[in-house]
Amino acid sequence: MNEPNTAPGYDRRTFLGGGAAAWALACAAPANQERTVAAPKTSTPRTGFPLLVGSANALVGMQRFYKDLADGGDPLDVAVEVCKVQEADPEDQSVGLGGLPNEDGVVQLDAACMYGPTHKSGAVACIENILHPSEVAKLVMQRTDHCLLVGKGAYEFARAHGFPHVELLTEASRKAWLEWKERLSSDDDWLQEREPPKPPKNASLESADWQRVASRSAWKRPTGTIHVSALSTRGEVACCTTTSGLAFKIPGRVGDSPIIGAGLYCDQECGSAGATGRGEASILANGSFAIVELLRQGAAPLDAAKEALRRVVRQAQRLSKWQPEMVDADGRPSFNLQFYTLDLSGRFAGVSLKGGKFAVADPERGPRHEELAVLDA
Ligand code: ASP
Repeated sequence: MNEPNTAPGYDRRTFLGGGAAAWALACAAPANQERTVAAPKTSTPRTGFPLLVGSANALVGMQRFYKDLADGGDPLDVAVEVCKVQEADPEDQSVGLGGLPNEDGVVQLDAACMYGPTHKSGAVACIENILHPSEVAKLVMQRTDHCLLVGKGAYEFARAHGFPHVELLTEASRKAWLEWKERLSSDDDWLQEREPPKPPKNASLESADWQRVASRSAWKRPTGTIHVSALSTRGEVACCTTTSGLAFKIPGRVGDSPIIGAGLYCDQECGSAGATGRGEASILANGSFAIVELLRQGAAPLDAAKEALRRVVRQAQRLSKWQPEMVDADGRPSFNLQFYTLDLSGRFAGVSLKGGKFAVADPERGPRHEELAVLDA
């Protein structure tokens, strides 16, 4: 990483302690007076330091388009172009063409983008037969007054803007879906009705329902998505996330990727963030928004992203009282989730529950993979 990812004089303890103290002070006002929260910090963006950070599969696109950013390109244009490389790649079964389909064998795509300078976003969800949902998301941002179009409406909007109708189900993805169906897999997303949790000691696990749920090999289906956050040479931030979502999902299911605040978020006052992995966990934590808010309060990218993951861990542990498969035998999340983030000063981080790589490109070392930081137990 280009710089130590902890701000001088800053650590998690002082951050959390300071935050708590500020909140206590803010709330100390008498009940009949207006209460204010400490004003957020706005930093001056670093200029002349073009930076991209994103999921590991963004590397190919970064290699192709980093030069555009370095030459003064718009950060949103570059983030979308990087994402489009994977959308058009039939080998990447997590996004666009060749993405794994839903339960019915239909490829439904989600994508969103956000632009710091105007604080505007655009998104599409459950869109079918359109090769580049990230580009459609950008058009929703630029050519409508809305943030999100879904399903048929999103498809019609894309067609009205000249996008061709494309069959996205490749032979490889159709075969993977057929095999999943033929195995009559219990690895799906339907949950049986159940009794409320009965603590302590998972007593309700003795019921047949719970045993079925607990024995499901849930969340082992292939997952993936592409996220890219960008900082331009002028210090503008933008981001884009695009995906075919959870493989063999319930038709109509929307993950975190097109949800502003969950699958991505940026704010020109502090930075940008995005997520890949179990979308429901990212939605429930509002992970990308949480990271950007932590940046605003002065956290360094690595600290902010790890703090968001810690919340995800605690939330999964609470949810496991209802859905035991959410945690493993050690009580850690059984699923994976990654966050990627950059701040206005050009610092960045990639964190994960389970490890792996992320992609980054900066003026010092160009496009490359780096190791994701993993939360300590
Ligand atoms: N986050 C995506 C979703 O939940 C899937 C993934 O990244 O694996 O739709």
